[in-house]
Amino acid sequence: MTNTINISYVNFLKKYGISSFLQDKPNNFYNIDSHKTNYLSINNIKDIKNINDLELFIKNSNVSDLKKNANSTVISDGDEKSKIMIIGEAPGAEEDKVGIPFVGAAGQLLNKMLLAINLKRERVYITNIIPWRPPNNRTPSNDEILECLPFVQRHIEIIKPKLILLLGSTASKAILNSTESIANLRGKWHEYKSINLIKGINCLVTYHPAFLLRSPKFKKYSWEDLKIFQKKIND
Ligand code: URA
Repeated sequence: MTNTINISYVNFLKKYGISSFLQDKPNNFYNIDSHKTNYLSINNIKDIKNINDLELFIKNSNVSDLKKNANSTVISDGDEKSKIMIIGEAPGAEEDKVGIPFVGAAGQLLNKMLLAINLKRERVYITNIIPWRPPNNRTPSNDEILECLPFVQRHIEIIKPKLILLLGSTASKAILNSTESIANLRGKWHEYKSINLIKGINCLVTYHPAFLLRSPKFKKYSWEDLKIFQKKIND
């Protein structure tokens, strides 16, 4: 940055209320390893235009310690051209082994939930908030979610789905920027907005299939949510 740009950037920050800095330079989490730049000449996530480049970018980023313990970077499954995007939490043991989201027990239930509203898994696009398995399948921390959020945000901007189904608390809170419980968020439509999207995207929240496996009495609420989702697909 030249000095002139620096000064105007500082003035911009001051104008928007930022008055102190905790460190000299911004974090560089989303820059990919420099020795790998021959794979991909992009080092700003907002310049990524397709899923292949996003996958390379995520695989080579230094954003999260979760990556160090994982066997796979789990990106997505399904139809990139689908109007329907499904977002879960993070890969589990099976997903970490094979590198595909929702292939374990929760994935089997997800497939059944989709079929119940006449959706084949291959016809939707499935991803997670976190691309790496948290050790022992623990819930990702807020910091881990925030570290990985730019990936899924760009993911949404590239796929541009018409509808998003958010599975469980991690996905719902992260995408809707909310601290509300699932019980409060589910069953009604929300809008996901991004500065990089011309139109907002309709999002519906429901229980995570892994939670439904543990607490089957909540399946009836999920069924209500799925019917609301189906109605919108057919509108
Ligand atoms: N749970 C998730 O949230 N995602 C997966 O991919 C598997 C289980």
